[in-house]
Amino acid sequence: MLPDQTFLRIPGPTPIPPSVQRAMNQPMIGHRDQEIKDLLHSIKPKLKPVFGTSQDVLMIAGSGTAGLESVVTNTVRPGDEVLVIVTGAFGDRFVQICQEYRIATHRFDVEWGEAVKPEAIEDYLKQHHEIKAVFATFCETSTGVLNPVQEIAQVVHQQSDALFIVDGVSCLGGVEAKMDDWGIDILITGSQKALMLPAGLTFLAVSDRAWQVIETNERPSFYLDLTKYRKQLENDSTPFTPAVSLLFGLKQVLELFEEEGLDAVCARHKLMMNMTREAFKTLGIPLLTSDQAASPTVTAIKPHDFDPDALRNVLKKEFKLTTAGGQQHLKGQIFRIGHMGYCSPADVLQTISIIEGALHKIGKHVELGSGTRAAQETMLSGGS
Ligand SMILES: *Cc1c(COP(=O)(O)O)cnc(C)c1O
Repeated sequence: MLPDQTFLRIPGPTPIPPSVQRAMNQPMIGHRDQEIKDLLHSIKPKLKPVFGTSQDVLMIAGSGTAGLESVVTNTVRPGDEVLVIVTGAFGDRFVQICQEYRIATHRFDVEWGEAVKPEAIEDYLKQHHEIKAVFATFCETSTGVLNPVQEIAQVVHQQSDALFIVDGVSCLGGVEAKMDDWGIDILITGSQKALMLPAGLTFLAVSDRAWQVIETNERPSFYLDLTKYRKQLENDSTPFTPAVSLLFGLKQVLELFEEEGLDAVCARHKLMMNMTREAFKTLGIPLLTSDQAASPTVTAIKPHDFDPDALRNVLKKEFKLTTAGGQQHLKGQIFRIGHMGYCSPADVLQTISIIEGALHKIGKHVELGSGTRAAQETMLSGGS
C-alpha cells in the first residue's frame, strides 16, 4: 500500500485540488497592501453566483460555526423569539448557539433522515406571531438530507415578517442556490466542504432586509460584528487580518468553478449522488433518506445486518479510505460518504468498488462489482 495515498470521502474537510494547493503556497503578502485589495476585488464578483445574490459576500476567518454564531449575535437579542428547524446535528447547533445568547428558542424537530415539510412550518408560524427569525439547515450533513429551503422561504415570508436564515455550509458550491430569488435573508457557508478549501473561512451573504435589522440591533460581539466586514469589503479590505493563504486558494477555486461552469458543477454533484444511491440500492443495503430528501453532497447508509463502524475500520485500515460515522443517536447506526467538492464520478466508482471489497472482509457477502456496475450504468445514462 502506498504510505502517503489516502482517500478522503467525508462530508468535510474535503480534498484540495492541486492547483488550489499550489495557489495557497504563494509567499505571504502584506494584509494592507494593494495586492490584497486586488485579490479581494477579483474574488468579490465571482462569489455572488455561488450564493445567487447581488450582495457582497462577507468573509470571516473562522470555521463555519463562527458564521452561524455571527448571525445569531447580529440579528436577534436576548428575549427575542426565534424558530429553529432541527433536522439533525447542525440544526441542533443553531439551537445551542441561540440558547447560549439567551434567545427565546422554539425548536421544531423533524425525524432524523427526513426533510422538513414547508406546510408544517406554515402551521407553526400561524400559531406563533412573535417569531423574529427562522433558522434552517440547507443540507443537514448528519443525515444527508437537503431541506426545501426555497419553499420554506416562501411560507416564512407569507406568514411572518421573520428573517429567514440558512446554514448552507455543507452544500454551497455543490447545489444550486438562488438566495435573492428564493428570499433567503442570510446564507452562510464554510470553506472546507464543497468549496474545496481547508477549514478556516466562513462566508455570509445578507439581504437588504436583514441589514436593516442588523443595523438597529445591539450586536454584542466585537470580532463577529458583520457591519465591520461589510464596511471594509466595500473598499476591498477586511477589518482584521484575513486568512491570506485561503484567499489565494479561493481565487483559484472560483476560477475552477468558472471553467467548469456552476451548472455543470451542480450536475456533477447530482450525478455522484445518484451513482452512490443506485449502488447501495443494488447491493441491498438501505439508505437513510428517501430519493426526494437526498442531498447531492453526502449520502448516509443505514445497514441492518452489519456494523457500519466495523466496515469503516476496515476501509480506513486496509484501504486508507476515510468515511464518516453517525452523530448523536445515529452513532453506530449509519455511515456517511461525502461526495462533494474535488470529487468526480470516477472517485465515486473507486469508493463503491473499495466498499464492496471491504464488505467481503467483514463477512457481508455482496456480489462483487454489482454496486460498481449500477454506479457505472447510472453514470453512462447521464445520472437519472
Ligand atoms: C460542517 C458544518 C458546519 C460548520 O462546522 P465547523 O466545524 O464550524 O466548520 C455547519 N453547518 C453544517 C451543516 C455543516 O456541515
